[in-house]
Amino acid sequence: MYKVAHVDASKCSASNCRLCVLYCPEPNTLLYDEKRNTAFVAVDRCKGCGACLRICTDISKRNCITMVAVGSAQGEFEMSRYGMPDVSKQEK
Ligand code: SF4
Ligand code: SF4
Repeated sequence: MYKVAHVDASKCSASNCRLCVLYCPEPNTLLYDEKRNTAFVAVDRCKGCGACLRICTDISKRNCITMVAVGSAQGEFEMSRYGMPDVSKQEK
């Protein structure tokens, strides 16, 4: 079963950490939503390597990320829904 990362936005938004975003080896896959103040996964690009899970759990100690079956990640295909994020509009 193919698994992808899922960020619990309610937990992640309680911090301003962003650590996992720095370590995802796939470009434009683990992103940060400035409006919701949370990391999120573009499911259609996630390779399921689990690096972000280890970062959030073992380094950041926030436990926001789980690996979920890709079939249960309906509605989280961010790139398909929204296209590439426009970083020029993100708050500095
Ligand atoms: S490491 Fe965890 S708390 Fe930090 S941005 Fe990523 S999901 Fe959020
Ligand atoms: S599982 Fe790997 S590819 Fe997917 S978001 Fe996490 S670090 Fe990136």
